[in-house]
Amino acid sequence: MTDQTKYVYDLSEGDVTLKPLLGGKGANLAEMAKIGVPVPDAFTVTTQACVAAMNNGGDWPEGLADQIDAGLARLEERTGKKLGSAENPLLVSVRSGAVFSMPGMMDTILNLGISDDTVGSVAQLAGNERFAWDCYRRFIQMYGEVVEGISPHVFEDALTAMKVDRGVDQDTDLTAEDLKALTDQFKELANRELGGEWTSDPKEQLLRAVNAVFASWLNPRAEVYRKSQGISRDLGTAVNVQMMVFGNRGETSATGVCFSRNPSTGAKELYGEFLTNAQGEDVVAGIRTPRPLEEMEGVLPEAFHELLATMDKLELHNKDMQDMEFTIEDRKLYMLQTRNGKRTAAATVKTAVDMVDEGLITTDEALLRINPSDLDALLHPGIDPNHTATSIVKGLPASPGAAVGALSFNADDAAERGGAGEQVILVRYETTPDDIHGVMKAQGVLTAHGGMTSHAAVVARGMGITCVAGAPGIKIDTINETVTIGDTVYGKDDVVTLNGSTGEVFAGALPLVPPAINEDFEKVGEWADQARRLGVRANAENFEDASKARELGAEGIGLARTEHMFMAADRLPAVRKMILAENEEQRAAALAEILPMQQADFEGIFTAMKGLPVTVRLLDPPLHEFLPNLVDQSVLVKELELTGADAAKLEAEKATLAQVKKLHEQNPMLGTRGCRLAMLYPSIPEMQARAIIRAALAVLEREGETVGVEIMIPLVAFESELKAQRDIVVAAVEDEFEKAGKKLDYLVGTMIEIPRAALTADQIANQADFFSFGTNDLTQTGIGISRDDAEAGFLGAYVETEVIEKNPFESLDADGVGQLVAIGVEKGRATKPDLKTGVCGEHGGDPASIEFFNKVGLDYVSCSPFRVPIARLAAARAALQA
Ligand code: ADP
Ligand code: MG
Ligand code: MG
Repeated sequence: MTDQTKYVYDLSEGDVTLKPLLGGKGANLAEMAKIGVPVPDAFTVTTQACVAAMNNGGDWPEGLADQIDAGLARLEERTGKKLGSAENPLLVSVRSGAVFSMPGMMDTILNLGISDDTVGSVAQLAGNERFAWDCYRRFIQMYGEVVEGISPHVFEDALTAMKVDRGVDQDTDLTAEDLKALTDQFKELANRELGGEWTSDPKEQLLRAVNAVFASWLNPRAEVYRKSQGISRDLGTAVNVQMMVFGNRGETSATGVCFSRNPSTGAKELYGEFLTNAQGEDVVAGIRTPRPLEEMEGVLPEAFHELLATMDKLELHNKDMQDMEFTIEDRKLYMLQTRNGKRTAAATVKTAVDMVDEGLITTDEALLRINPSDLDALLHPGIDPNHTATSIVKGLPASPGAAVGALSFNADDAAERGGAGEQVILVRYETTPDDIHGVMKAQGVLTAHGGMTSHAAVVARGMGITCVAGAPGIKIDTINETVTIGDTVYGKDDVVTLNGSTGEVFAGALPLVPPAINEDFEKVGEWADQARRLGVRANAENFEDASKARELGAEGIGLARTEHMFMAADRLPAVRKMILAENEEQRAAALAEILPMQQADFEGIFTAMKGLPVTVRLLDPPLHEFLPNLVDQSVLVKELELTGADAAKLEAEKATLAQVKKLHEQNPMLGTRGCRLAMLYPSIPEMQARAIIRAALAVLEREGETVGVEIMIPLVAFESELKAQRDIVVAAVEDEFEKAGKKLDYLVGTMIEIPRAALTADQIANQADFFSFGTNDLTQTGIGISRDDAEAGFLGAYVETEVIEKNPFESLDADGVGQLVAIGVEKGRATKPDLKTGVCGEHGGDPASIEFFNKVGLDYVSCSPFRVPIARLAAARAALQA
């Protein structure tokens, strides 16, 4: 049986709806022709043909060569020209064209059909001998490189030698004679490179060119580009065979590229470049320096005005900014390509908003056009994109934005210098909770270890502080306060610039450009709020962050981590005392010291968020993060013993060492964390519940309004745990109400972050007013991967080698961990139909994860303040796409 699949479409058979089959370029060419824009006639070989060949070790599917033959015959018929004919030769381009545009990643061949037989009549018909030889030498060069794999320098060297010999520096200064001689030379060179196997039959060349374009789908740069853009390798490219039009026929001919709006800023203004007497490659591949499009009005006025009208027509038809290629052959304009233009984040927002104002698109369409991660770039000052510096090292882009500052090698120094107004970059092997005060006062953080989900990164993102983590090979000497990067040693007075969006580090101060939070940005936020179903809250634990979150549109706090409040330098001693207490009396004393500090923190948050709900999570300390290190403490005791000087201090440090040993755990992440600590020491949750309620009452008193108090118990696995904790909290709260003679509404709920809790959510819900899915720990416990070692270890390699698609700590593992969330929601609601559900892991700010949370019916997501606008937009898009 013969294969009946249609692999070849004439230009008139296509339109924009056939993009998956004809590729973006082919479908848009057909669409342009359909609406009356002048396009050179063509036919398109489908992506399906490419895929079939790819899946068959490069062998073409049956019938493809015949269909191309027939397509060519029809093209010849329509144009009245013939490939290889000495009288009236047809010249074509053979152009790649993927479904999603991949500018310059694949190959294109121009002027196919020119040969010893046809060059004479090309010259004669154009009345231009030089032009014909220019086409011919270009063809040999392109075909030789792309189809035959001849190294480009073979031809470039010959061209340069010719120019030197003739004493000229522009290609355009070469005469017809020169180009003829060059063509002969190129032919000889090509033939020699191929050991005499150079093909000169245009038909044969056409088939080989189509095949070369298929193959270019798999070339390394295309692979790299596809991976970075998330484009599937299975799609394949289409191939467009199109009649040539010539911008190189003399001074009344030209070629160029133009945009319907400025792709850097989004402004509606003329933006483009052109060259007279040139072919398209000269502009797109940067062979010559083109002129600004404005100047074309003086050179070719009719074509210029027709081009302006065509730009408007195409933009109106496609309802988006267009990026176009055109060629003018002897004053006549042809369009060779149009596509939706790639643009900066700022231009994305501006064009979308402007087009709504112009009535071109609806607000929903505008929302679907803005990629949420684009907003991220707009929320941080960025490095001036015109800089020319090269980076000294590249780490992980852990927290976006740009930071410039002098190096600081410990947190105290960073806090001091930063607090005094100096711009500093904190450089650490990795950051610990002890560093938090330094991190807060730094412009940016650079670490040698740790990844995108390391504490440093999480904290820095939460605060909008730029962070480059895990910079490979940097050597930090904390004693002499130097860091060696490459062969250079940098000290305290040296300034560096971090690009947290790319992970690059530069020596010296690069110029910065301010974030573009403007009216357009706010408008997008308002539209998103109308379209979304999911609520958006923020993770914050102090007044500043909470205020920032509210300013960026947060509708409450989904997670206030009380242990973050414990990490400040002035509190850590009291917190350590509390944990290390040898008896209840000592513990009560430490707690009494902490309570007013906690209350003050809560008052700050509650003041910033009055009128909105705030979820406060009770203490969830991986104990090791708060305690002196076992080894360090042992060394300290040894030293004190050796010097024998301070007997009292020795005793105290010995006692601490004994406690540290007692509390030491092999797997602290699976140890005495969350409510487990509170189960052992009920006075801790009791103190916290009191501090929360006192703060809420104080704010109510002072401001006349307070927050919706939600008290959250972490790391629950059993209903009995939650019941016990709930009882403690409720008793303390009621006691405070009694004492104050006042009441307010409050909820008690739990984190769902252990698989057992998700699987028994129907039981847990008996004790909970709300669930908040802690997807960081749920990922750690659900997949069994340590989140602290994630990037450095095997997980990095898994992502690199595509064992798994994405790091599950960055984007929710929907198939696995996501199922635990879905089960948790379903079972929880089976017990309590109106159970409030949210998510407070890092995933709450990740657009792909937000889409999933929308689907499983959560009530809200919570993320770091600076991701709130992104989450609002992502939630809107999820709702619109559902
Ligand atoms: P790319 O994706 O690299 O831009 P294209 O297929 O668009 O590849 O072609 C490269 C250049 O050649 C472009 O400037 C294009 O306008 C020009 N070009 C392609 N086909 C023709 C043609 N039939 N006539 C004139 N110029 C062409
Ligand atoms: Mg192009
Ligand atoms: Mg947790």
